Amino acid sequence: MPENVCPLCGHKGSPVPFREVKERALKPCGHEVPEGQYYLCPNQDCPVAYFGPLALSYRDLKESG
Ligand SMILES: [Zn+2]
Repeated sequence: MPENVCPLCGHKGSPVPFREVKERALKPCGHEVPEGQYYLCPNQDCPVAYFGPLALSYRDLKESG
């Protein structure tokens, strides 16, 4: 499976800078988000927000705005 395809819903994601993922991600257990290439899942019905070395759901992100 290509790395730019969401592991949950199979939609093709668009690349996002790791910096953006790191800024938005919560660190529930004090773990850093692993560095690497992340993609944004475009599927509104999919709980996955970003995927890459790690898949992050919207609950793993800080509130936006
Ligand atoms: Zn998805």
